[in-house]
Amino acid sequence: MNDKPHQSTKVVHAGQGKSQNGKPFMPGPVFASTFHLSGDTDGDTHQYARYAHPTWDVLENSIGELEMGKVLIFPSGMAAAAAIMTAILKQGDILLLASDGYATTRSYAENYLCKFGVNVKILPTTQISEADFSSVKLVFIETPSNPMLDVVDIKKLAKKIHAKGGLLAIDNTTLTPLGQKPLLLGADISMCSDTKAMNGHSDVVFGHVATQNSDLYESMLLWRKVSGSIAGPMETWLMQRGLSSLDMRLERMVNNARLIADYLFAHDKVQSIRYPGLVDDPSHGIACEQMQHFGFVISFDLGSKTNADLFLKNTQLIYEATSFGGMHTMAERRARWSTDDDLPEGLIRLSVGCENPQDIMTDISQALSFIYLNT
Ligand code: PLP
Repeated sequence: MNDKPHQSTKVVHAGQGKSQNGKPFMPGPVFASTFHLSGDTDGDTHQYARYAHPTWDVLENSIGELEMGKVLIFPSGMAAAAAIMTAILKQGDILLLASDGYATTRSYAENYLCKFGVNVKILPTTQISEADFSSVKLVFIETPSNPMLDVVDIKKLAKKIHAKGGLLAIDNTTLTPLGQKPLLLGADISMCSDTKAMNGHSDVVFGHVATQNSDLYESMLLWRKVSGSIAGPMETWLMQRGLSSLDMRLERMVNNARLIADYLFAHDKVQSIRYPGLVDDPSHGIACEQMQHFGFVISFDLGSKTNADLFLKNTQLIYEATSFGGMHTMAERRARWSTDDDLPEGLIRLSVGCENPQDIMTDISQALSFIYLNT
């Protein structure tokens, strides 16, 4: 075989090799807190399970193949986000966040980092690129943003921030590193809530960070070690299992999302729709340049809370839930959360799953039929 295996193949084969007779295909979780350790210590052997762990090694190498950087895993997406901000920022630094990004990231900054003298500035995603980055230490955004799916030009943004001496971290949860490679586009850090599509089976809470910058890596590694923000071996192993089917799941989800977006776009009960794959979407141009796929999240406005509630009540296959990226198609009226109060009351975030697309389309069609026009 001449060509190197693709990233998705390497992830399927993670931690395994040929000619290892009698060994299981999948390395199992290693349940150990303590490792044999005699004499002087070197940094390379496993010592104690808060520092490094053999089950983490397999997953960190796998995700590293996808991110094209060094990876640290965390017990949740928020633990990963907190590691980035805490490891980088100190008293007097300016942190720039998006007002329409994941609300808990802002909550961590405002409730804890502010207490330690970090200045938190907040702008809508659509205005981030034009911000004044003088004295900004860290810009931490999601692209596409969620749920409005605005896309920021990562390459341009990274150049502007670096010119002023700052750092850029991208929350890549909605696309995963198979849909977008922030590190190759110039970002200093890429992170995901792996709870979503990376694991994909709605059964594990998890997160990771990736970077090519060894100083940032060391400082987040130290944070993990001293804060004890670590993942258990069972969750890590489940993550590895979920990750091995990421490419396959995404292919199905993204194809389904494309069909459903076209259907919703043409539907008379849908007042507006955001999906970067639609040619008319404001995000489409830059999405084509920097994303490998258009994602599986669609946001559409049914005009009122009543309509959105009617829709959600009448779906049969689509479950109402506040997550996304799983095998099941999920929907949520986002404005039900007080943290998202700038959103239209009738806005539905739809996370398209791996079901037969015709079944989901039929379900959407029958649920929309409960809505009367002009209500
Ligand atoms: N980032 C984004 C975009 C998210 O949607 C979430 C959770 O919904 C998080 C981060 C936090 O991840 P977790 O719930 O795994 O802590």
